[in-house]
Amino acid sequence: MTRYGMVIDITRCSGCYNCFIACRDEYCGNDYTPYSAAQPDKGSFWMKIIEKERGKYPQPVRVAYTPLLCQHCDDANCIKAAKNGEIYRRKDGIVIIDPEKAKGKQELVNACPYRVIYWNEEKDIPQKCTFCAHLLDAGWKEPRCVEACPTAALKFGDLDDPNSEVAKLAASGKVEILHPEYGMKEKVSYIGIPKRFIAGTVVFGDTDECAEKVTVTISDGQEKKTLKTNNYGDFGLDGLPSDKEYTVRVSYTGYKPQTFKAFTRDDVYLGDIFLIRK
Ligand code: SF4
Ligand code: SF4
Repeated sequence: MTRYGMVIDITRCSGCYNCFIACRDEYCGNDYTPYSAAQPDKGSFWMKIIEKERGKYPQPVRVAYTPLLCQHCDDANCIKAAKNGEIYRRKDGIVIIDPEKAKGKQELVNACPYRVIYWNEEKDIPQKCTFCAHLLDAGWKEPRCVEACPTAALKFGDLDDPNSEVAKLAASGKVEILHPEYGMKEKVSYIGIPKRFIAGTVVFGDTDECAEKVTVTISDGQEKKTLKTNNYGDFGLDGLPSDKEYTVRVSYTGYKPQTFKAFTRDDVYLGDIFLIRK
């Protein structure tokens, strides 16, 4: 039995929006009832690109793009909230909002913690990505967004076929669920979800020069990582989990050591740290 899923490689996504445009092209003004009614011209992002700026000047600023669409969960909150079958899972795992049964059910928008259900004001219905089920049923191998992606950041296929690329990736140990805490058995998984970093720049306070080869230790109380600043006095540790407290210690022979607390609610840039002579 086919069980469709997607693997999104964030490290390959260039933020070109081709997938978003292909989705708009497929659905705006096009009615595919019973799969989906036409998408409105504005306000719906069945394929949404979340842009996150990482870093802060003068350190390099990077942007991570995370494509977000319905995760076609096997244990979907939206299906549980739809008491009269307005949302259902097909045999191939695709989750569909019935455009006729769901009429007037605005409350279903709030049933998805990923916030990927959009309210169509004009048609009075909740809507979302269908994995282009109407095309798959017509013999297509992949949805329009996947076909449009120039970097192959989007992989689509049968999770139950051990020879498919998505099944191999899903079994590779490289993929993660965007929000495992929701516990909905999502069928979209990700490679390279951006983590948090802690960074800073160390300066010799007495000479105002960049402090190279300064020792920086970053510890969460159990694990400790030791780094050295580069010739610009910069240091940085990426790949840290969110919402954790770290202690950052900066030390160099002949100067007073300094200690900082860093909480990874977001990326942390400690700014310029001036070393003072003992
Ligand atoms: S991501 Fe949201 S809308 Fe999609 S199946 Fe899961 S709960 Fe439903
Ligand atoms: S088409 Fe591909 S590279 Fe472009 S934004 Fe979408 S996922 Fe990223």
